[in-house]
Amino acid sequence: MTVRLLDTLTGEQRDLVPLEPGHVRVYSCGPTVYGPAHIGNFRSFLFADLLVRHLRYRGYRVTWVMNITDIDDKIIRGAAASGEGIDELAERWTARFLDDARTLRMTTPDVLPRATRHIPEIVALVSTLLEKGHAYRTDDGSIFFRIASWPAYGQLARLDPTQLRVGERVEADEYAKDDVRDFAIWKGPKPGEPSWETAIGAGRPGWHIECSAMSMKHLGESFDVHTGGVDLIFPHHEDEIAQSEAATGHEFVRTWLHCAHLQMGGEKMAKSTGNIARVEEVLAQGVSARALRYALLAVHYRAPLTYSDESLAAATAAIERLDAALLALAGYREDRSDDPTLPEALEAARTAFGAALDDDLNVSPALAALFDLVRVVNRRIDARAMSTADAARAASVINELDAVLGIGPDGTSESLEPALQAMLDARASAREARDWAASDRLRDELAAAGIVVEDSRDGQRWRRAERVPDG
Ligand SMILES: [Zn+2]
Repeated sequence: MTVRLLDTLTGEQRDLVPLEPGHVRVYSCGPTVYGPAHIGNFRSFLFADLLVRHLRYRGYRVTWVMNITDIDDKIIRGAAASGEGIDELAERWTARFLDDARTLRMTTPDVLPRATRHIPEIVALVSTLLEKGHAYRTDDGSIFFRIASWPAYGQLARLDPTQLRVGERVEADEYAKDDVRDFAIWKGPKPGEPSWETAIGAGRPGWHIECSAMSMKHLGESFDVHTGGVDLIFPHHEDEIAQSEAATGHEFVRTWLHCAHLQMGGEKMAKSTGNIARVEEVLAQGVSARALRYALLAVHYRAPLTYSDESLAAATAAIERLDAALLALAGYREDRSDDPTLPEALEAARTAFGAALDDDLNVSPALAALFDLVRVVNRRIDARAMSTADAARAASVINELDAVLGIGPDGTSESLEPALQAMLDARASAREARDWAASDRLRDELAAAGIVVEDSRDGQRWRRAERVPDG
């Protein structure tokens, strides 16, 4: 079992070999918090969630960082329009984003760093770029990255270097995608705009630099996987590579993954065109959050996904099939010998499911493996061909696979790394045996691994500890 991922930069499918053995470090470009995210944004976040869940299922320790852009032109304009401070506005929309993310059962990233809480790191990175001659100042106190100083510029987006128009400057974050120019890494102070007094002068960070500074702070100068939507390839990720590698002198990211657009009514879902649907609006139509999650995950991340009433209806039907099977299994009692063919069927489903996701998160055959298993199990339920214990075994495998997908009826389902699950199981046994010393020791060991265990009347519950308090 090796996870293989298609890297946008090289165009090659490569084996995932973590830079630090057993530990995969993942960075995802997160939301700009000036309004509610739309479900096209969530498609991109949920594919990263699927990646993280699958890697944990495969036994990797994963550190997942997703930034919150809490300072940019749109936030400044939004705050001016609503009469709020930018912090207040960003706070409000960050809370909304996290609400929507929880509703869609997105795993909470281990770190949710905010740009305004990382000014020192950003300033340090800009200083290095200035010292190394990759950046220059302009009269208004802004600092630009000099694309001419970085010959590799354009590789990710496969731009023709002779087509690059170098040296032009823009002051806004919002420039047309087909324009290639020196870009602002630090914006000089302007009346009415927030600004920080720093060693490189007064001003505020540009958008691209925040992702370089925060990913390298929380994951190291080189890390394994960087995700985002295809619209971020250029210029955002191209700029991230240039400024990070120019500053450190080594490879920034091993594997780049980009999620295709969500389409609705034949057009790409985008805030700029107003062709959008938001989580709240979809749920108000009576669609369940699980069906919406399923609809956003059910197509391979690199393929455009059409969002429609039909795709939601198909998602709803799939969820109902899954629920019905789990309900039937939970109530199934049959006093007979075990079905000798069941273990093989369960193992085949598990193998097919894992192999599909190992293959660049190929979700369609993974879903097919899960629903084939549901069919296999339903046939045995109808024929009363399993024992009571068989039914429990089948339910346990369905739940195991669903913990990677997060579409099942158990809202708290999330995959725990197998080694940690084993410790959790051992602790449950220790408690049953009233071996409190062993139970406490295992709780401490789990805590050291970032898993908080709480005991309730229904047994133990676990959650991932929040790691960095600056989020
Ligand atoms: Zn970013």
